[in-house]
Amino acid sequence: MIFYILLFILGLAFGSFFNVLILRYDPEGSLFSFKRLSGRSHCPHCSKELKPSELIPVLSFIFLGGRCSSCGERISFFYPFTEILTGLFFALVPFLINNFYGVPESTFLTGGAPSWYYLLVFLWLIISLTFLLVALIDFKYYVVPDELNLILFLVGIFVSFLIFFHPNSPAPFRTSFFENYILIFSPFENVLWNHLLGSLIGGIFFLLLVVLSRGKGMGFGDVKLALASGMVLGWPDMGLAVAISFIAGGFFGALLLLLKTKGMKDKIPYAPFFVLGVFLTMFLGHSIIFGYFKLFGF
Ligand SMILES: [Zn+2]
Repeated sequence: MIFYILLFILGLAFGSFFNVLILRYDPEGSLFSFKRLSGRSHCPHCSKELKPSELIPVLSFIFLGGRCSSCGERISFFYPFTEILTGLFFALVPFLINNFYGVPESTFLTGGAPSWYYLLVFLWLIISLTFLLVALIDFKYYVVPDELNLILFLVGIFVSFLIFFHPNSPAPFRTSFFENYILIFSPFENVLWNHLLGSLIGGIFFLLLVVLSRGKGMGFGDVKLALASGMVLGWPDMGLAVAISFIAGGFFGALLLLLKTKGMKDKIPYAPFFVLGVFLTMFLGHSIIFGYFKLFGF
């Protein structure tokens, strides 16, 4: 338990760094530009430099009462929100993967799991944090940086090979978050084909949407995100993530229309819904499919 609390605190600190990354991002330039990332943090309203005591994740926001100590302007909830989400993912992802593979916390902490497994947990953490950044940046700028798609694509290939070389250890059917249900949904047993298939189906599906909607609903950015995410998730996991994203996006869009905060022509960023679909697939994929079949009496 203490281990996961420590991970959460480490995640909060990473969340502060993500805030800097997101706030200083310029869609025209590179995401990881050292020039933009260096230099002290300051209030976006009055430009006053922040003291070290004002840089503590979440706590500074609470003690400052959500306002800048110099000009009194409100500080956006976006900052503590990013920090808490990042903290949660730092703790939840290793917890999830350990549960998924049936690795007890004591085994994990004492180095009892195979070394490739620690690499796998680390890669899933990188994947999750990249997806989180994708959602937050798309929410703020309506664009997904190519750097993040590239990270997802490359780590996706890496993870596929890692699982490929250790197919049934420490537990069988752990090549997909569908677990044993993968046998129903995928034509391939080979994890490499499954991940290539996820990437291709995702990419082609969004390309068709772009062509059919003439770029009004989806853009080529979404095609790139689908190619990269499909490589990470594989098939059929990618299909479930997309399905959830359309259901969630549809509900949210209808809600905004009802509340009249947005009109038919307003843009709604897609990636946050997709990332929600990805995380629900990761955390609940097997339960969702199990529940679906139970609902229809199988
Ligand atoms: Zn200020």
